[in-house]
Amino acid sequence: MTVPYLEALQEFEPVIGLETHVELGTNSKMFCGCAAEFGAEPNTRTCPVCLGLPGALPVVNEKAIESTVRIGLALHCSIATWCRFARKNYFYPDMPKNFQTSQYDEPLCVDGYLDVEVGGETVRVEIERVHLEEDTGKTLHVGGATGRISGATHSLVDYNRAGIPLVEIVTRPVTGTGERAAAVAKAYVAELRDLLRGLDVSDVRMEQGSMRCDVNTSLGRPGEPWGTRTETKNVNSLRSVERAVRSEVERQAVVLRSGGRIVQETRHFSEATGTTSPGRSKEEATDYRYFPEPDLVPVAPDPAWVAALKAALPEPPSVRRKQLVTQLGLSENDSQAMVNAGVLDLVLATVEAGAPAAEARNWWLGHLAQAANSAGTSPDELAITPAAVARVVELVASGSLTAGLARQVVDGVLAGEGAPDDVVAARGLAVVSDEGALGSAVDEAIAAQPGIADKVRGGKLPAVGALVGAVMKATRGQADAAVVRKLLLERLGVSE
Ligand code: ADP
Ligand code: MG
Ligand code: ZN
Repeated sequence: MTVPYLEALQEFEPVIGLETHVELGTNSKMFCGCAAEFGAEPNTRTCPVCLGLPGALPVVNEKAIESTVRIGLALHCSIATWCRFARKNYFYPDMPKNFQTSQYDEPLCVDGYLDVEVGGETVRVEIERVHLEEDTGKTLHVGGATGRISGATHSLVDYNRAGIPLVEIVTRPVTGTGERAAAVAKAYVAELRDLLRGLDVSDVRMEQGSMRCDVNTSLGRPGEPWGTRTETKNVNSLRSVERAVRSEVERQAVVLRSGGRIVQETRHFSEATGTTSPGRSKEEATDYRYFPEPDLVPVAPDPAWVAALKAALPEPPSVRRKQLVTQLGLSENDSQAMVNAGVLDLVLATVEAGAPAAEARNWWLGHLAQAANSAGTSPDELAITPAAVARVVELVASGSLTAGLARQVVDGVLAGEGAPDDVVAARGLAVVSDEGALGSAVDEAIAAQPGIADKVRGGKLPAVGALVGAVMKATRGQADAAVVRKLLLERLGVSE
């Protein structure tokens, strides 16, 4: 039983808070020289430091500090002039040291904000802190049907990810959003992702886990203190961020209405059902026995270096967006339509990747918006990048693909068959403009529709369209329509 979202928010006031983890795209790990890469053979990117072997000594990755400071600056934070790492002690097999090197009461960046646009209004989300830590390894539960720990016969651990630099960005509680709570949560994560992409510090791929969110939600009655929050862990798409808030609001409202209490706990979000289920009840900070990491020297960023990093920051996404919209001469209506469809950034990124604005717009508002709709997802979660769309546009412009073939290529990319050029090669999709190969299809089309052929012979040129269509169909869209038309007219003895 749930109370519908809007109804719940007439009775209760929501508070949300987001903790976002981002894997930095550094070459090496946080405290050792191992390669920080995705997808290598398990346990081949490890050394005594990231395996926590006795006596191994960590060294801080300077590039990771630099990226974190740049993130903090882009989020308008103050940067610490002196801070230390801390040990967060707990036992779990994916963490071979039995502690995570993190930051606790001395984060690198504090007190910032990020402005996000929701429904034409700006909402300021305050940032409490940005700190640096290391990722854990990955555990694979084997033998069960679901890949989860229950039912598994054994587990495998891969330490390649252990020690990859991870930045955590924590918001202050966001209040006063009312019905827009879920939309604000989603808009914040989307804006943060664009900002991080602009800084070029991470590939921010939510579906691959290089960016993941914990979504905190609570409800309280107006005028009363905030309610107890739950923390929905590892939400890995923008759409799920929004759904996680909605489902928690709907679930908590039932409990509160009936006089019950919300338990402070972590919860898991299920993509399949769109609802959350209980995880573990939350440790208190004291359970982790945090203490300053004795094996690392403190970090004291030189203010002159920080100032130089600040001066070199790229334009924030909101400013870049406005500049591009003006540069491209997009009308207010046009850009509003793209905002409403959730494709403005995708269109702009496609243009930045080299496509003309009109083509980029047509793909994202047309075929791709439809594809997202029928897959029940949003355009930004489709398995195609703006760069791939720009490549398809280029293939059409150079005459290698027809419009129909281009759609097939895009569908292939969406189905995970690879980059556009891979799909073209694998599916053998190339324009057939060889006149010999087309000749028989042209003859068949004329033989099949003698009435139309006569009309064309009699001078009714537009009628040839039906024959062109038949040839295109027979060649599965792989013919060059202009060549087909020319051949048909030649065969029918008509000149234009
Ligand atoms: P923890 O690691 O224990 O989850 P953090 O301080 O890292 O604690 O993160 C807590 C998050 O929850 C922050 O984003 C904070 O703004 C948010 N938060 C705190 N209180 C509430 C509340 N009552 N309702 C919703 N979110 C909250
Ligand atoms: Mg947390
Ligand atoms: Zn290592």
